[in-house]
Amino acid sequence: MGFQRLSKFFSADIGIDLGTANCLVYVRGKGVVLTEPSVVAIMENTNAVLAVGSEAKNMLGKTPRNIKAVRPMKEGVIAVFDITEDMIRFFIQKALHSVFWYRRLLRPTVMIAVPYGITEVETRAVKDSAKRAGAGDVELIEEPMAAAVGVGLPVVDPVGSMIMDIGGGTTEVAVISLSGIVTAKSVRVGGDRLDSTIIQYLKKEYNLMVGELAAEQIKIRIGSAYPVNDDARMDVKGLDQVSRVPKMISITGKEIREALQEPVTTIIEAVLSTLESCPPDLAADLIDRGIMLAGGGAMLRGLDQLLSEETGLPVFVAEEPLQAVARGTGVMLQEIETIQN
Ligand code: ADP
Ligand code: MG
Repeated sequence: MGFQRLSKFFSADIGIDLGTANCLVYVRGKGVVLTEPSVVAIMENTNAVLAVGSEAKNMLGKTPRNIKAVRPMKEGVIAVFDITEDMIRFFIQKALHSVFWYRRLLRPTVMIAVPYGITEVETRAVKDSAKRAGAGDVELIEEPMAAAVGVGLPVVDPVGSMIMDIGGGTTEVAVISLSGIVTAKSVRVGGDRLDSTIIQYLKKEYNLMVGELAAEQIKIRIGSAYPVNDDARMDVKGLDQVSRVPKMISITGKEIREALQEPVTTIIEAVLSTLESCPPDLAADLIDRGIMLAGGGAMLRGLDQLLSEETGLPVFVAEEPLQAVARGTGVMLQEIETIQN
C-alpha cells in the first residue's frame, strides 16, 4: 500500500459547504454528517465563543446585552474572519467525532465550497482559516460548480447545464460546460431578504414587529412565489409597534406571496440576465435540459413554476436542495483520490 493509500486510510477527508445560512460537512465514506446553522454566539467584550450552530441560532434575537449571535458568512463573503475560523474548527472537530479514531490520525484534506467570484484575499483567508482550524491540504471549489456536481448534472460534458443556488445571503446562477463555469451571476438576494421583506410587510400593514426567526417560519409555512398556496392561513405573534404589547394577527398565503414579489423578481432577473450572456449553442442546450434549482431557497413554493413561466424553460428542484453543495464537495474529494492513485 503506497503512502497515498495509507494517508487515505488514516485521515477522514472532509468537504465543507460554508453557507451564509447553513454549514454542512461531508466526510469521505460517510456522506453528509452534519448540518448546522452558520451562527456563532460570542461574548461582546472578549469575543469568547459561547455556542456554535443550532444552539447559537436559537439565541438570535434573544441574547442579553453582553452576548452577540453572529452570522459570519452573511451575504456570501466572510464578514468576520476570526469568528469564521472558530466556526470551521468547531465543525471539523464535530464531524471528526463521527469517524473511527484511527481516521483522525492524519490531518484531513478539506475541500471547501466558496462563493463564486470570491476575491484573492478572501481565498487566502479561507485557506488560512481552515489550516489553523486543523485541516491538512485545503482545496477550494466554487459553489455553483459544487452544487452542479452534487445534484449530478453532467458538468464534464460539452453541453450547457444551468444551476441556480438560492442560499440565505446570495443567489448564484451559472451555466457550466466542459467542467468550467461559462457564465455566472451572483446577486445578494436570497432567503434572508425574503425574511426581511416579511418583517417590513408586517410592520407596515399591521404595526406588528416580529423577529428574523419568526419571519423565516412564516416564509417556510405559507410563503410562495406563484399562486399555489394563496388560501393558506397562519397566526402570527409579535409586538405591537405602537402600544408595545404582544399581539396576534392572522395572515394569508396570498398576502405573503404579494409581499415577496419584489425580491423574487430580483432572483428571476438573475436567471434572465445569465441566459442573455450565455453563448447561443449552450443556451440551445437549456431548452431540453432546463434549469436545476438548489439551495434552501429552491424550496419556496411555486418558484419553479414562476421561473418556468418567465423563461419558457423546464425547471427542476434538486432532490435534497440543502445538501447539493456539500455532496458536490464529496464527489470532488473522490475525484482527487482517483487522480492521485
Ligand atoms: P446558504 O447556502 O446560504 O447557507 P442554504 O442553501 O442553506 O443557504 O439555504 C438557506 C435558506 O433557505 C434560508 O434563507 C432558509 O430560510 C431557506 N429555506 C429553507 N427551507 C425553506 C423552505 N421550505 N421554503 C423556503 N425557503 C426555505
Ligand atoms: Mg449555499
